[in-house]
Formats: sequence, C-alpha cells, structure tokens
Amino acid sequence: MPRLPIYQQKERLVEAVRCNAFLVVTGETGSGKTTQLPQYLFQAGFWKGGKIGVTQPRRVAAITVAQRVSHEMGFTLGREVGYQVRFDDCTSKDTVIKYMTDGCMLREILADPGLTQYGVVILDEAHERSLNTDVLLGLMKKNHCRGGSHSRSSSLKVIVMSATLETEKLSAFFGRCPVFTIPGRTFPVSEQFCNLIGPKDIDGSGYVKEVVNMVLDVHTSETAGDILVFLTGQSEIERACDMLFKKAEAIDYRYDVRDRTVDGLLILPLYGSMPTDQQRQIFQPPPAGVRKCVVATNIAATSLTISGIRYVVDSGFVKQLAHNSRVGMDVLEIVPISKSEAEQRAGRAGRTSEGKCFRIYGREFWEKYMPDYMVPEIQRTSLTSVILTLKCLGVHDVIRFPYLDAPEERFILSALKQLYQFDAIDRRGHVTELGRQMVQFPLPLGLTRVLLRAAALGCEELMLPIAAMLSVENVFIRPGHPEKQKEAETKHREIASDAGKNNDFTMMLSVFEKCKSSESPSSWCRENWIHWRAVKSAFSVESQLSEILLRIKQQRDFSTEEFEGSQSELFRQCLCSGYFTNVARRSIGKSFCTMDGHGSTVHIHPSSALFGEESQLDWIIFHDVLVTSRMYVRTVCPIRYEWVKDLLPKLHEVDAYELSNVAREEVTEEEVAKWESKEAFKRQMGDQCDSS
Ligand code: ADP
Ligand code: MG
Repeated sequence: MPRLPIYQQKERLVEAVRCNAFLVVTGETGSGKTTQLPQYLFQAGFWKGGKIGVTQPRRVAAITVAQRVSHEMGFTLGREVGYQVRFDDCTSKDTVIKYMTDGCMLREILADPGLTQYGVVILDEAHERSLNTDVLLGLMKKNHCRGGSHSRSSSLKVIVMSATLETEKLSAFFGRCPVFTIPGRTFPVSEQFCNLIGPKDIDGSGYVKEVVNMVLDVHTSETAGDILVFLTGQSEIERACDMLFKKAEAIDYRYDVRDRTVDGLLILPLYGSMPTDQQRQIFQPPPAGVRKCVVATNIAATSLTISGIRYVVDSGFVKQLAHNSRVGMDVLEIVPISKSEAEQRAGRAGRTSEGKCFRIYGREFWEKYMPDYMVPEIQRTSLTSVILTLKCLGVHDVIRFPYLDAPEERFILSALKQLYQFDAIDRRGHVTELGRQMVQFPLPLGLTRVLLRAAALGCEELMLPIAAMLSVENVFIRPGHPEKQKEAETKHREIASDAGKNNDFTMMLSVFEKCKSSESPSSWCRENWIHWRAVKSAFSVESQLSEILLRIKQQRDFSTEEFEGSQSELFRQCLCSGYFTNVARRSIGKSFCTMDGHGSTVHIHPSSALFGEESQLDWIIFHDVLVTSRMYVRTVCPIRYEWVKDLLPKLHEVDAYELSNVAREEVTEEEVAKWESKEAFKRQMGDQCDSS
C-alpha cells in the first residue's frame, strides 16, 4: 500500500496530542485519520492512561474500521482492537482501541460521567454533525470547564476529527485549541452536470432509473477504473443493483464497450445493515479486466474510503431523518444534498488519479434546490432522547447547554413536553424514577415506555420480541418479481391469520415466536419470505433488552400491578401507554385523522396487515409514518378509545410557555402548585387563546 499522507506527520501529531487537552485534526478523506491516528497513539503508549475511544456516527463505519485496524495491527478483532455499536459489543477487557458509535459513547458517559476508563476520546466525523456527536462535543466542553468535578476529565485528551469543514468553528468552540491539518494530495476531478433530472423530480422518485442509465453509459464509454454510485438507501440500492445486473448482462462486450480492457461489471451494494462479510468484498480490487461498481449510501462520502475509484455517479439525493411539522414527528425523507456534500462525493473520484464525476442533475437543480451546507441533525430532529440523557447527567438547563449550533428553542420545548407526556420528567423538569429507567434502553422512548408498562403488568415476554423486531431491519421480504411477490404476500397473510387478531404488532410477535420454535429457523424463513438475518439479530436484541429489563426489575423500587382482561386487551393497552402520541381515528372513507393536535389525514400503508380492513376500524395507534404523495402510517394496531381517553389530555395539558419556565430556571413550589391546579391551567390556556 502506498504510504498515506498522515504517515509523515506521525511524530508531530503525537506531540500535538501530548501537549493539548483538546485538538482538532483535519485532512482530506482517505488521508488516514480514522485508521492511523489511534494506532500512532497506541504505539506512543497513550493506552497506559486508559482506553483510546473513537466515535463514529455510523455503525457500519465503526465495525468496518475496527476490522481494518485490528487486521493492520495483526490482532484478533474484539481483543486489543474492538468495536461497540447498538446491540453488538465486540470488545473484551483487553480492548485498548475501541471504535464505537457516538450513541454508545453517550451511554457510557451515563454510566461513568468522568469517562474514567479512557485516556483519549476521539470524536470522528465531526463534520457530519450527527445529533449524538454534537451533544458529545458539548459534554466534553462542559466537563472540561467544570474542571475537577470529575476527577479524570482534566487529563482526558479530546481529539475532534473532521473531513474539511468548520475546523475554525470547532477550534473556537474549544477555547481556540490548535488545529492540526494533514496535508493531502488529491487529483483533479472533472464535474459534469448531466441534467437527467430537474426540479420536477424534487420529490426524488425517478432518479434510480437515471442513475442506472448513467452508470451503464460510464461503463461502456470510459476507460478502466472503478465506479462509485451515490444513492439514498437500502431499497433504492437493491433496486438499482437489480436493474444493473440485468442490463450489464445484456451488454455485448465485443461491440458495446469502448475500452476493450474492460469486459465485465462487478456490482456491489453498500449500505448500513449489510452483513459484514459482504462488505469486505467492497474493499478488494476486482478481478483483472473487470470494473467494480459500488452502489452506496452516503456512507462512502467520508466514512469509508474505497480505493480504485475513478468515476463517481451522483444521484444528488440523500435519505435523512428530519422533523416533519406536518406530521409532528421525525420521518425519513429523501432530500437534495448540499453543494458541499456534492463536492465531497465528487472528490472520491480523485484519490489516486484524475477522475470524473457525473451528476445526474442539472445546473438549475444545483442552484435552486441544493443548499450550501446541510442543516445539522440537532437542528432538524427530535431531541427527546438526548434531552433525557442530558437531564440524567445533571444538565438541568438544557436550553443554555453549550451547543455548537443551538437547536431552536421550540424543538427543545417539544422534547421536554414529550418527556413529560411519557412521565420521564416531572413538571419541574426533574427526571423521574421512570425516566432513569427509560434512559437505560437504547430504544425510542415510546417503545421503552411500552416495555416498562408491560414489565409492570407482567407481560414483558410479549413486548420484548416486538421491541426487538422494531429495532432491526424489515423482516418481511418483498420480492420484485410480481409472481413471487404474490407468493410472499400469501405466506405473510397466513402468518397474520395464524396470529389471530389482525394487527402488525402481533404479526411481528408471531414471526418471532414461530421462527424461534421451528426446527430449522433459517429454512422456515426461506419458506415464508422472511429475512433470516434480520430475525436472527432480533433474537439477539431481545435477549439484550431482556437483560436490561431484568437489571431494572431487580432494583428495589420497581412496582407491579394486576391486570383484569384478556391477553389481547392487555397487549394493546400496554402499546397505548407508549403510543398514545400516535393515535388516529377513522374519518372519511379509508382515511384517518391523527389526534396529536395536528389533525393530519393519514392512510394505512399497503404493507400493513390492516390494509383493506379500514372500514372495520375506528381508533388505531401506529409505530411510524411514511411520507410520499400521501401520509401513510405503518405498523398499526386497532385500539379502543377508552384505553387512551385518560392519556390523550396529556398531549395538550402542558404547553410550551409553561415548560419554558421549567427549562430555564428552578421554579418555586408555589408556581408548581398553580400549574397543578386545573382551573389555573385552563385560565392560562384561555388567555393564550384570546391573545392569539
Ligand atoms: P480518513 O479517516 O482520513 O478518511 P481512513 O483512515 O479511513 O482515512 O483511511 C485511510 C486509508 O486506508 C484509505 O485511503 C483506504 O485506502 C484504506 N482503508 C481504510 N479502510 C479500509 C478497509 N476496510 N479495507 C481496505 N483499505 C482500507
Ligand atoms: Mg475517517
């Protein structure tokens, strides 16, 4: 392997870490920051002061990089070099270099606020501005400012690594700490706007086909060199790969391909939930004469570097989580990337020689629809979980926390409101016992609430599998071929009818249980068009959640209750305790109206077991929302109004005005008493209505 740009900087870099509590390290993607710096620190003996922890916003990156580094150092993965991501801990007591997701690091801080086990913490990919990394940045700053309150924090080394952007801002945030720049070389990349999609494609539906055509065009007309394609997510990538397989097979290499040294196309998908053995192939050079084509999500933009890429095909879109004010919750949306993101993607073609980037969009699209920079996640998604984490860490004033970019106050307020609705905080903004239990689960809060309710009622064995199934990728296979699709649907319907009541939650439970009890789970899955890999990880997630729950139940103040009624009622009432924020009632025809104050019109998604049964339904709860031309709810369960009757007022009981006082300062007993009196509360609400 040619020497990486970082190599010449080794001594200087180690020295810079030695001399500074905070250091910002920047350099072109692929220069060796993620894989090399931790090794240098290891060799320089930094591990004697504690573990070297490296955070990544993406789980695949954490896993892949740990594999690579353990291999480079000649260690077995999970020993000296390991990784930890949600539901997958591959470390041991010997682990000294630990790659982990930023979410895992946050959990570790909860258990050990001083990070006493660490000598160095590296926050990698800070330019991605993931929610958890942003919170970690603030915590590191706050901890340090507090000085001796956590005894170790003063000697802890904090390194923030970023591809290119915002290094000045990061340095300023940490009291003008030094910025270490790794000089890199890159080769020029010619950029072409191909204008295959335009403003009318802004909803991002037709781009997959255009991307496929573009790839084939590049393959047949360009000289040797691998192709990297940027698409949006697993399903789009699988669709594109399918189309590519078919079309590439039809190419007659004697006539169609201009560069005669190329006589085949090796198509490789790359996305988050892919099995790691498949991922490994991506980094290997293709066989002689074959062109490699990696079809990836944004993960290949900065987190992972694939060598040999000379051509980039950019769809111009990315899938990201964002708060949708129409729905009142976070939804995954396909949106145009930013201009800086597009530059980053293009740059991947120029790592080892001159390259070319083909953008399927045109100039107009670039000018009009692509922002200069991406809005950081902290300013566009729900803050509920991180605010609870901060509260549990004793950060009471979550509005004046040192954010690199502060979220809008209304987002903080709505997070507080939701925490209050779930009983995780009280009216004074203090964490409740329940809140301390909830924070221990790596799950969305509503689902955690359901799980804890089920545990209190003694039926957790019904909910643990569901929580697990909701935490893994979709288990139901939907084949592209129409006939196969019918077959799969029939099988899935059989499982649903076996499950008794039509509802998507029991359906998941049924898949889980049937698979678990079958003699050969993998062949059961094959026969029933179920993803075995996904169910297998659900098994592992279930046992991990069950361990956390057991630990909590053993704590002395875990209270239990009796329940009178059928199992189905018990089950659905438990769901209501965490999903009352997602309640809808049938309105006209097949449409439903949400009850969270937004009053949006939603429809049941065709993938639901309840699709087509709308006329028989009245009240429903749902797990999530998919926004396309319509708003669809997915994973649905029918409920009775009386089960949510007492919970629904909670959605409107506390308003932002009230909680803003709570958030800002300690409030007096008197004020709390005032709020707790319904009359005063109504008056206040009345005043607000008058004034608006
Ligand atoms: P940076 O963090 O600066 O973007 P990395 O440390 O991730 O850079 O990568 C340095 C180099 O190591 C890359 O140029 C790439 O060629 C190589 N590399 C990284 N991960 C792998 C892997 N899993 N397999 C093969 N090569 C890899
Ligand atoms: Mg990196």
